[in-house]
Amino acid sequence: MEKYISHIVLMGYRDISTCAKIWKVDSLSREQEVLPGTLLGVIEEYFPGSNVYEIDGKIYSSIIGIPRLDMVRRIVWVEPRTRVQMPSQGSMVYAYVINARDESAFLRIIGSDPRSPIRQSLVGMLHISQARLDPGERSLLDIIRPGDLVYAKILSKSNPYILTLRAPKAGVVLSLCLKCAAFMRYRSGKLSCPRCGFEESRRVSQLYISI
Ligand SMILES: [Zn+2]
Repeated sequence: MEKYISHIVLMGYRDISTCAKIWKVDSLSREQEVLPGTLLGVIEEYFPGSNVYEIDGKIYSSIIGIPRLDMVRRIVWVEPRTRVQMPSQGSMVYAYVINARDESAFLRIIGSDPRSPIRQSLVGMLHISQARLDPGERSLLDIIRPGDLVYAKILSKSNPYILTLRAPKAGVVLSLCLKCAAFMRYRSGKLSCPRCGFEESRRVSQLYISI
């Protein structure tokens, strides 16, 4: 035990009380997170997999994550805690409009579930050619506005992503009043502010959120 603690101190961890706990790889019934430097096992028992390192025959985690054990191949490895679910081409995502002009807009993609947004900064770009359905829509600002939450389809493969509103259910799903910042309500084909009565025009999605 003393040896492990001295090792952790060498790794630069000052809080020994939290880092000195030795993780038992045999008890894999729980999803318990480990810290860098946590002892996972010895090479007589397991082969080191990804995100671990070995010193003097002992296998330690090199990241914060969940330890995994391949019982068939006897490999121990650590799954990163913050595994990023990157949106795939063709998938539908929610995104906030950060900046919009007549012809183009920048959005921040928050992922496929607005209740658990992606932490990473994923940028979406929308051009009016991918938003206009009616020739009367001369400006992108007739369709979306900064601050809106929109539902859009991903057209490209990597960040920054090209978005389109030419997809089923695509459009604004939540909008703020430009005058008083209250959440707009969508009733009978109209977007109106319940607080000040201001009415606006948008490409409203059938997924519009009622608050
Ligand atoms: Zn208002």
